[in-house]
Amino acid sequence: MKDFEILNKTFGKVKKEIYGSSCGKRAVVDFKTPGELRKIMKLAVEERGVNEKQFLQLIDDYLQYSVRTGNKQFFNQLFSGFNLPAFIGELLTTLTNTSMYTYEVAPVASVIEKEMIALMNSYVPFSNGDGIFLTGGSNGNLLAMFSARNRVFPEGRFEGYDRTQKLVAFVNEQAHYSLDTAANLLGIGSKNVIRVKSDSKGRMDPVELESEIKQSLHRGENPFFVVATCATTLMGAYDPMEEMAVICKKYDLWLHADGSFGGSILLSDTHRQLMKGVEKADSLVWNPHKLMNIPLVCSALLLKEKGVLERNLTDMNTDYLYHDTDSMEDLGKKSIQCGRRVDAVKLWFAWKYFGKEGYRERIDSLMAMAEYAEKMVVENPNLQLVVPRQSFAICFRWVPDFKVDLNEFNLEVRERLRKNGSSMVNYGYINDKLVIRLITANGNLQKKDIDEFFHNFTTEAMQLEAKNLVCGEASK
Ligand SMILES: *Cc1c(COP(=O)(O)O)cnc(C)c1O
Repeated sequence: MKDFEILNKTFGKVKKEIYGSSCGKRAVVDFKTPGELRKIMKLAVEERGVNEKQFLQLIDDYLQYSVRTGNKQFFNQLFSGFNLPAFIGELLTTLTNTSMYTYEVAPVASVIEKEMIALMNSYVPFSNGDGIFLTGGSNGNLLAMFSARNRVFPEGRFEGYDRTQKLVAFVNEQAHYSLDTAANLLGIGSKNVIRVKSDSKGRMDPVELESEIKQSLHRGENPFFVVATCATTLMGAYDPMEEMAVICKKYDLWLHADGSFGGSILLSDTHRQLMKGVEKADSLVWNPHKLMNIPLVCSALLLKEKGVLERNLTDMNTDYLYHDTDSMEDLGKKSIQCGRRVDAVKLWFAWKYFGKEGYRERIDSLMAMAEYAEKMVVENPNLQLVVPRQSFAICFRWVPDFKVDLNEFNLEVRERLRKNGSSMVNYGYINDKLVIRLITANGNLQKKDIDEFFHNFTTEAMQLEAKNLVCGEASK
């Protein structure tokens, strides 16, 4: 009875949170320092459990101080927004709590995962493709590099990896750090991940790529793996895959597309040409938990050739888990995890609900919002577009009319926005320049939300300018 009450009241709070966030009147975050938060939240677990009222209070506190990533002023990450059908899929996933290793224990989820992998492959297209859902793009990159390594040294599975044969990978200088981690974990070493120069838009320069490969061969090394980033985390740049594929073919290298951020662009007829040539890659990581707005985690590694993962992973003694009966359907043999969360079901619910059309429109709309945001920057005399925009990321900074440390100034504006809860936006460095990085990832964004962001940003920047001027005068 008590449990049922709690459930009812919890759903009431959930509903309030969903509607409250989507109407956009609430702050993105009710910011507290870690010290303040530790005081407010009753964190310590006591000998006796809490009563119903106390339990419900914990829910309120959790919701009150969490960042509202569904709010339309949340531009901080490569994901944003609330997705109702995916949320329902997530609820069902938890309700039916199971693990993805066998058909036996996850029959519906297994056939759904296969369907989602096939659907994603059809967008590449990989006509004889394979794939697996895993715990994020970072791990997808790891598994892709691992597959490429085992293609070069298949016996490495049993013998270990011979360090006299130096394997070398090539990535965009702005590629994701998880590729260094992957090289570290695989015994290849992060020093052997060569960062290839990019052009003014942040795309890998294919001439530089070939030159780096030649130099590596000349040093007697074993080039084995090239990553095309689609798109880069900071600048949103898509590497030129068609040209890179030609080079990879020439030197017989595994081409991996890191579409963790921008892989969803394949859903758009208008913009998918940014990933032209992707069907020539050997693997692709695609994160529906970024631009498709599926709750974290939802990420898949797709492979051009069926069977690669099984071959590389399962020759171990697993008879106790994998029986022969339904073994063709047992997805666990493609995974480095044993217990694995069901992540495809929420994607399936969302894709069914919005349809292919809904997702196509979503991606087009995200791009239109990015174009609009870029225009807002270009038209404001105090805002400087630091690099040309290619996709969903706009990198800019505020330049006051008087002399000031621009990095410090822009960071301060960003921190003020975060702490007053009006807008959250991230930053990064291009060479030594601090840039504000605005991401259009929320499918519900409209021009007025972008206007509101720039209004908030401009207001803070001008207040900070005024303060700087006053202090500047005083110090004279
Ligand atoms: C986000 C991102 C990743 C990492 O993906 P996770 O799912 O967060 O592990 C890898 N590469 C790029 C380009 C990304 O933007």
